[in-house]
Amino acid sequence: MKSENDRPEQSGTLYIVATPIGNLDDMSPRAAAILSRVAVIAAEDTRHSGRLLQHLGISKPMMALHDHNERDKAGQVLARLAASEDVALISDAGTPLISDPGFVLVREARARGFRVSPVPGACALVAALSAAGLPTDRFLFEGFLPAKPGARKAALERLARESSTLVFYESPHRIVDTVRDIGQVLGGERELVLARELTKTFETFYAGSASSVGDVLEADPHGSRGEFVVMVHGASDAEAAAGSVEVDRVLALLLKELPVKKAARLAAELTGSSKNELYQRALEMKAG
Ligand code: SAM
Repeated sequence: MKSENDRPEQSGTLYIVATPIGNLDDMSPRAAAILSRVAVIAAEDTRHSGRLLQHLGISKPMMALHDHNERDKAGQVLARLAASEDVALISDAGTPLISDPGFVLVREARARGFRVSPVPGACALVAALSAAGLPTDRFLFEGFLPAKPGARKAALERLARESSTLVFYESPHRIVDTVRDIGQVLGGERELVLARELTKTFETFYAGSASSVGDVLEADPHGSRGEFVVMVHGASDAEAAAGSVEVDRVLALLLKELPVKKAARLAAELTGSSKNELYQRALEMKAG
């Protein structure tokens, strides 16, 4: 990958500009100034972002850059940067690339040595964590969990022993099922905080055990409306240890019937643990 010192002479800059997640006053003056200065704005949904630009009094050419056309459109953006034009990338809300399009473009732009500069601002996961009252020294952002129940539970099982705070995005029509699955897989007593409609009129935090938050959400007629960030306390030492006892039990059973490598591979698939770690553990168990 090229560094910015190898930048093509006189090329433009790609600005990655955060926009509000609900409250339009969260648009920073610098972000607005950059949007009015660039040659073109690449937006996830030009109609949606057109309303923001109108609110800011900015009239600027836009091009649509979303998940389905990012490869094609990235080429057009790179051509404009090469022609010394500055380009801004925005998404529908918050920080581009955070569960939003832009990765292909930023990677390509960097690979070709163009300057890529962030203009920071709102991001739902950071806003949610900052006010949730859960540990923030280490957290794991997992984006959206799978939509299908089986895959969602499997993804949660893989995270059951993770001691960092877990953070997910979730859509309103799956929020109740997801909170219920968290209770089922990680334990109904696991501490959970939901941040709903951040920075908007009906901003609400729901906090408590996974099972109590699930109950409150189901009882609240507005509970599954709006946008949500789901945060879950990481596994306690006891939960992590209980997990490894379970892994050991599965591995020991498989080792009775299978060679080490096969047992480790199957145990990894069944428990979501690392194959290499289980191979080492299996060797230790064999050795006594
Ligand atoms: N790029 C955005 C960011 O920086 O947060 C996230 C985009 S992602 C496609 C949209 C998801 O972010 C929503 O489904 C929801 O989980 C979360 N989200 C966005 N705005 C939110 C808000 N105001 N309150 C709570 N969650 C929000």
